[in-house]
Amino acid sequence: MHRIVLSLLLLLVFMAPQAAVAATLNGSSSSVAKVELANVRWQVHTDAVEGTSRLRLVIDTTGPVKISSVLSEKPGPQLMIDVKDAVLGKIDQSVALDGQIADKVTFSKKNISSSQILVDLSNMIETSDYKVFTLPSNAESNKSFRVVIDINKPVPKVNYNFTPGLKGKVIAIDPGHGGSDSGAIGSNKTQEKTITLAIAQKVQNLLEKAGAKVLMTRQTDVDVYGPGASATDELQARTKVGNLNKADVFVSIHINAFSNPSVGGIATYYYQKTGYDAMLAQNIQDNLANFGISQDRGINAAGFYVIKRTTMPAVLTELGFISNPDEEKMMNTPQFQQQMAQGIVQGLDGFFTQAARKGGGS
Ligand SMILES: [Zn+2]
Repeated sequence: MHRIVLSLLLLLVFMAPQAAVAATLNGSSSSVAKVELANVRWQVHTDAVEGTSRLRLVIDTTGPVKISSVLSEKPGPQLMIDVKDAVLGKIDQSVALDGQIADKVTFSKKNISSSQILVDLSNMIETSDYKVFTLPSNAESNKSFRVVIDINKPVPKVNYNFTPGLKGKVIAIDPGHGGSDSGAIGSNKTQEKTITLAIAQKVQNLLEKAGAKVLMTRQTDVDVYGPGASATDELQARTKVGNLNKADVFVSIHINAFSNPSVGGIATYYYQKTGYDAMLAQNIQDNLANFGISQDRGINAAGFYVIKRTTMPAVLTELGFISNPDEEKMMNTPQFQQQMAQGIVQGLDGFFTQAARKGGGS
C-alpha cells in the first residue's frame, strides 16, 4: 500500500515541468538558476514489528530533481546517488550519521549540472535494503521538494535471557502525556498528566530502592519531544528512551476516560511482539488488581504506539477512569498512587521471576 503511494508521488515529480532542463539544451553554462540541494536531516527509527532499524536521510531541494543510485563496495561500502540538474546550495558538505547503519553522508559536485550524494555505509547492504525516492513540495505542510534515502537494517533477534529480581534491570517508565498535552480531564479538573507523573515518580523511587536503573521518559510536566510536535514525533521520542538505552522492559502509565461516568477499573494493554509482552501485562495487572480498589478489567491486546514500537516487552496500564468521579477523587490521594506504584513494581518483580523460568528464546 505504502509503496504504491510512493510510486505515484514519483510519477508526479517526473511529470512536473522542469525549468532547469531548458537551460542545458544549447550547451550554454550561462547563469540560469538551477535547483539546489538546500538542507539535510536524518533520523533512525527502530521498529520491532517490522524487525528493522531504518536510517532515513531527507535532503531538501529547491525544485524537482531526477535521481539514480548505485551500491558500491569500493573503496568501502557506499551508496552513491546522482542528482541531475542540481547544484550544491548551502547544504553542509559532510554530515556524520548514526555509525550503525551509515557513518557519514557527503555532498559534492559531479559535473557542471549534477551533484552527487555519497553515503558511507557501516556495512555492505543488499539492493533490497535501501530505497531512494523523491517527493514533491507540499505547501500545506510547509515542505519543499525532497530526496529521501531509506536504508534498512534488520534488528538483531534478541535472545532473551531474563534473570529473576529487579537489581540491575533497566526499566523505562513513561508517564503518559505532559506539557501541552494534559491527557484526559476529570469533572473536578484533575489532569491525567499530573496523576501519571505522580505515580511514575513513586514507581521510580521503589525501583531504584530495589537496585534497578530507571529511565523516565519525562521527570516534569513537559512534552517529551517538544511543544507543538506531531503526535507521532512525541510518542516516538518516548519509545526512543527505551529503545536507544536498551531497556529490559517499558511501562507506560495512563488513566482512562469514558463517556459513561459510572465506568471504572484498571486494565493493562500489551502488544505481543517479543513472546513476553502478555506475561509482563498479566503480572502487572494481577498485582494492581490485588489491592481490590476498583474493578479488574484484565489484560487486553492493543496496538498503542508505545507498546508496539518499543523493541522490548512493554505494557500500557490504565490505572482507573478519570471520568468516574469516585475514581478521580481517589487517584489524587497519595495512598492510591503509592498502591498503584507498588502494584507495578511487584508485577515487574513477578515478571522477571516468571520470565527467567521460561528461559531464553523469543
Ligand atoms: Zn492517556
